[in-house]
Amino acid sequence: MSTKKWVYLFDELDQAMQYVNDEWDGLRGLFGGKGANLADMQRIGVPVPPGFTVTTEACNGYLAGGGVFPDGMWDQELQALMAIEKKTGKTFGDADHPLLVSCRSGAKFSMPGMMDTVLNIGLNDETAKGMIRHTKDPRFVYDAYRRLIQMFGSVVMNIPDEAFESAIEQMKREVGAASDADLTGAQWQYLTARFKTIFRSHTQVDFPQDPVEQLKMATEAVFKSWNGKRAVDYRNAAGIAHDLGTAVNIVTMVFGNMGDDCATGVAMTRNGATGAPKLEGDYLINAQGEDVVAGIRMTKDIDQLADDMPEAYAELQQIAKVLEKHYRDMQDIEFTIEKGKLWMLQTRDGKRTAQAAVRIAVDMAEEGLITHEEAVTRVSPSQIDFFLHPQFDTQAIAEARSQGMVLARGLNVSPGAAVGKVVFDADLAESWAKEQGRKVLMVRPETKPDDVHGMLAAKGILTSRGGRTSHAALVARQFGKPAIVGVSALQIDLNKRRMSVGDRVIQEGDWLSLDGNTGEIFIGQLTTMVPDIKDPWLIKLLAWADEIRTLGVWANVDYPVDAQRAREYGAEGIGLCRSEHMFFESERLPYIQKMIMAQLPFDRREALNTLLPFQREDFAGLFRVMDGLPVIIRLIDPPLHEFLPDLVQLINELADLKMRVKHAPTLAEIDSLLQQIQRKETIRKQAEHLHEQNPMLGLRGVRLGIQIPELTTMQVRAVFEAACEVTREGVKVLPKVMIPLTSHANELKVQREVLENEARKVMAEQGIEIEYKFGTMIELPRAALTADRIAEHAQFFSFGTNDLTQTTYGISRDDAEAGFLIGYLNRGILPENPFATLDRDGVGELMRIAIKKGRTTRKDMECGICGEHGGDPDSIAICHELGLTYVSCSPFRVPIARLAAAHAALKSKKAK
Ligand code: ADP
Ligand code: MG
Ligand code: MG
Repeated sequence: MSTKKWVYLFDELDQAMQYVNDEWDGLRGLFGGKGANLADMQRIGVPVPPGFTVTTEACNGYLAGGGVFPDGMWDQELQALMAIEKKTGKTFGDADHPLLVSCRSGAKFSMPGMMDTVLNIGLNDETAKGMIRHTKDPRFVYDAYRRLIQMFGSVVMNIPDEAFESAIEQMKREVGAASDADLTGAQWQYLTARFKTIFRSHTQVDFPQDPVEQLKMATEAVFKSWNGKRAVDYRNAAGIAHDLGTAVNIVTMVFGNMGDDCATGVAMTRNGATGAPKLEGDYLINAQGEDVVAGIRMTKDIDQLADDMPEAYAELQQIAKVLEKHYRDMQDIEFTIEKGKLWMLQTRDGKRTAQAAVRIAVDMAEEGLITHEEAVTRVSPSQIDFFLHPQFDTQAIAEARSQGMVLARGLNVSPGAAVGKVVFDADLAESWAKEQGRKVLMVRPETKPDDVHGMLAAKGILTSRGGRTSHAALVARQFGKPAIVGVSALQIDLNKRRMSVGDRVIQEGDWLSLDGNTGEIFIGQLTTMVPDIKDPWLIKLLAWADEIRTLGVWANVDYPVDAQRAREYGAEGIGLCRSEHMFFESERLPYIQKMIMAQLPFDRREALNTLLPFQREDFAGLFRVMDGLPVIIRLIDPPLHEFLPDLVQLINELADLKMRVKHAPTLAEIDSLLQQIQRKETIRKQAEHLHEQNPMLGLRGVRLGIQIPELTTMQVRAVFEAACEVTREGVKVLPKVMIPLTSHANELKVQREVLENEARKVMAEQGIEIEYKFGTMIELPRAALTADRIAEHAQFFSFGTNDLTQTTYGISRDDAEAGFLIGYLNRGILPENPFATLDRDGVGELMRIAIKKGRTTRKDMECGICGEHGGDPDSIAICHELGLTYVSCSPFRVPIARLAAAHAALKSKKAK
């Protein structure tokens, strides 16, 4: 019986592809992302040091078996090692020509820094001597050896890294060295010995001298790290499954620390913050691996490599192009230059900000690397959301600058505005933010994977060290947090819990404002504002989305300024104007109250006549802005008591007035108080009269219009007078009158007759014909189920999915969301909040019936949605499937809806 293949050399890619049925995704699952790409790079001729991958299946076998290598795995690993020995002409553990390797983890999805790498495996006292004989460079060899003990100690044996680092610090202090690079061979040799002692004192065993033992223990450590706390936390935050396992990659060491013709670095093939098509990255001369990302030494900008090592730089640029073309995406690469020779150690799709995602997608489409459709799918609706997030008010920035409130500047690695209280550790950041609801900024000299939970809880991230590709920068970008790193002027004193720039001191808990766009740190709280979407790449991407989508995108607005914004954001109409919102303004409220108080139709009409000009101007304003586009005006919907003062408050005020009558000194005063009492009493009586046990299901919507036809008639008159007025100005107006909360076709019949008569009357008076429609909201189950009848009286439907969800579930939203709904969601009784994402099976089914029945009566029945769901990407996908004409949402969600509608169209195209 042949045993399973657990180990694949990089050049056995074909065999592995066969095993996973030629699915690239399957290969990533088997090899992990790092291993799959290493083998793949080797295949396309990119220089990769020889190596092999132990599969994720082996890891899962090891973990399932309680920590025993699966059958045959270890033998295969040793055989693969022999194959590398052959290729490199070096031998593992050989005193003359020792082969050194790195042991690297790599899961299916990239988890930056989550699991640890051990470099220089194969070094021991003997092989170190051999290497010195060959390289004549004891400094290099002992630097490499001490790193092995250090990494092996911390990763495999859990010795705190500080134990080693403080020994280095001490040495540097004693000899007066500024950086690690200044230490001599003898000093590293001394430190190597010191590290062995540290190793022994923490573990009670000696550092293993047997290279095979080193390799075995390192392999096991990588397997085990899959279930380490950091990795588990990260997977929870990023939504990655826990059963994938990690692969182990064993790679021949190449050395960036053999002198000044050596270097190591990391780079993005395009700028990860802005998307600009130019290499972005950091490197260090004469250094090894982790030094760059650890932020221990000040790194150099990749641009400088062009001067330092022109040939290697040119090759790096060339390889960047090859990789982008091959993977058709921006790549995040790790490389090492050994004696002028460039080696690639990793490539993966690069993390990027929302801005960069948009720009890269658009640029790549224009460069012909991907199609317009792919560009559109590469940006997620939530990334569009980011463009609409607050930025600092330019005025506020100018003022803060002129008042000298700029504390310092750093690298602007992740854009956006963040305001919060300074916090110096992750646990505190999390507890202040989560338990106390405070806004916090996470401030550290540098961040580590252990800090991720604090970074997630923070509004923004600030570090004094680190470069553009530091841990802080990568994590911030991934989670869309504004971040500034490498603020060298910043002195952070973690013990005293304060930081300073010069003589300015900031205590933990003080407010700061971070501008991730410019890299400026301001003292205090700057005001923020919502930006306009002027980004040229975003405009282009959304235009492509518009070509793809079939669903219309309209907006819910009540006022002309919002309509203006909606138009700028690409809305193709107004799907909902809540006409009653205008009644609440202070100069109007008294009239609507007067109307409500009126006992006689005559008084009522008088009060309404005063409101008419206001409403007319409201509508005229909207029509002017929406020139040429449809505007749906919904007639008054809420119950009347909402316009009266609160009943309890009235009763209290009355009691108070009555007290004052008793103590009033003069007759005149008594008289005035009595008058006030009388007025309030009538209001109270009316409020009591209008009081309902359950106003949500009471006298509102079309019922109100039937009860008080003067009210809705006035509104319709205002609509049509306004329409005539703006038509005369040369504006193209397409008004649509929407009657809310219909449950029975007869309600609509009765109300529409009255209203349409009024509309005709206005048009006759004005001598102008307006193109108009009357329609209704579908927000009650009965309306949905009898939509064919309703369609006889309605020229369009609009789904009010908030009320429809409430009445379908029989729950009131406010009560539910403040109460049991959270419990339902936590316990999984409901998979999602039905008020946030459309309930496909219930509410969605009612919609499907309504659309079908409505369209049997009226073939081209226009059906839209104006509930909040209209701006939710998942709900938009359902709306697309249901064949709605448009979704209507808040102006701020319009760009998101445009993209989500395109995604929905592409998805259903693919399904077909
Ligand atoms: P991570 O997943 O944390 O990025 P890696 O496995 O990529 O860990 O290793 C971290 C760094 O170690 C690499 O960026 C590279 O600089 C260095 N490294 C890993 N393997 C080798 C090798 N064979 N030769 C030289 N450097 C290596
Ligand atoms: Mg790496
Ligand atoms: Mg409603």
